[in-house]
Amino acid sequence: MKPNSLSGIKEELDFLKRTRLEFEKAIQFIDAKVKPVESGLVKLLEQPFRQLTVRFPVHRDNGSIELFTGYRVQHSRLYEPTKGGIRYHPDVDLDLITALAFDMTLKCLIVDLPYGGSKGGVCCDPKKMSRSELDRLTRRYTYEIMPMLGPDSDVPAPDIGTDEREMGIIYDTYRMFSPQTPYASAVVTGKPLNLGGSPNRREATAQGGIYVLEEAVKQKHIEGLTSLKNAAVVILGFGNVGFNVAEILHKDFGSRILGICDSKGGVYSEGGMIPHEVLAYKNASAEQSVVGYNGLQHLDVKQLLTSPCDILVPAAKETQVVGELANEIKAKVVLELANGCTTNLAHEILINKDLYVLPDVLANAGGVTVSYFEWLQNKAGESWESNQVKERLQKKITTAYRNVAEIARNRDLDMRRAAFIFAISKAIDVISERGIFP
Ligand code: NAD
Repeated sequence: MKPNSLSGIKEELDFLKRTRLEFEKAIQFIDAKVKPVESGLVKLLEQPFRQLTVRFPVHRDNGSIELFTGYRVQHSRLYEPTKGGIRYHPDVDLDLITALAFDMTLKCLIVDLPYGGSKGGVCCDPKKMSRSELDRLTRRYTYEIMPMLGPDSDVPAPDIGTDEREMGIIYDTYRMFSPQTPYASAVVTGKPLNLGGSPNRREATAQGGIYVLEEAVKQKHIEGLTSLKNAAVVILGFGNVGFNVAEILHKDFGSRILGICDSKGGVYSEGGMIPHEVLAYKNASAEQSVVGYNGLQHLDVKQLLTSPCDILVPAAKETQVVGELANEIKAKVVLELANGCTTNLAHEILINKDLYVLPDVLANAGGVTVSYFEWLQNKAGESWESNQVKERLQKKITTAYRNVAEIARNRDLDMRRAAFIFAISKAIDVISERGIFP
């Protein structure tokens, strides 16, 4: 669907407000064109059912005590357990975590996982903390949110600033306090393999996004892009998701990785870059950044976002693709692997330019999908082969893409609106089938 005019669209820079705006538009559409929506249901679906804020002390290595603030938000109990990552970042606050928990609810509905959405995080700068300080922070934060956690109540996973190491510590801390819980390793996903982690979890978000992209190319939904081979790619963010998307696209599809950036800046090379070499450079550099790789010129995020490419992959943080840049974006498709990366105004500008946008709630659902597989393996005491995980992931993600694309086609909508409508219609059905307690 193309708006006739962009005048009158107010850019919303707040992720939570933006999510609620898109939610309200989807509700209006369902109410007018699909089935009437009871007004009480709207609030029930929109508001988180539980929000916990904790303040806790951690000893720094120099002996001082620092107070940290952490959160855990459970958005919906359409299904239980709830599921969602844990973020360590200076921008973490209650609204951000609430928005991310809302997105998790939508994602699980879109890929058909029996989970409600949740999210957690601590306001801290992990880059300025030592390994042992981070370990103490993780143990204490886990203890503080323990009343919510459990394999059948709420299950965390990695997000920005956390990885397998934190997930292993969360599991160990939970286990110490719950020695009788059966299948306790299912309390957290994204664990190291030795602790019950799943093959392919680390690259799952990137892999899932690539399955979405592949299907869109196969179905000829992206104007001017008929193959991933030789496709020019620019990636914002070079952490877990950003590196893996670069690596898989380069290695498995022969795409050309022209631009990469992280929080310190970026680099662009018309000849393309080899992702694992860029990663080795970043890991060895004093700044832990891609800046300076191969003597390439330093670019800022704005320059990188607007560099020539076929596929633009935001894989860093929220609200980076904004209206003032959207007009200058030259890609054919935006694969949103970062949550909440595009503002409402930027989105309208992009689709008005006939650029295909694969929305975050669909494009980055591969992570929670393989987390679900890990949880199933832990509960069944099984360990699946890598190929089995990849095949099941591809099936889930491709089905989700087709379901959303069908709504977009039949109703003449963009993929973000279609994804929200798909998820919220299903949520309404689940509530009516479960009923309201008591
Ligand atoms: P990460 O911490 O491993 O990496 C984040 C990357 O973004 C780093 O390279 C960092 O330098 C970069 N970055 C941070 N601020 C930036 C800025 N202002 N400009 C440019 N780059 C910046 O995190 P991740 O796990 O790769 O997550 C990236 C995104 O993917 C997030 O939006 C996250 O919510 C989303 N996501 C992650 C998962 C997962 O399984 N890890 C699942 C679903 C969605």
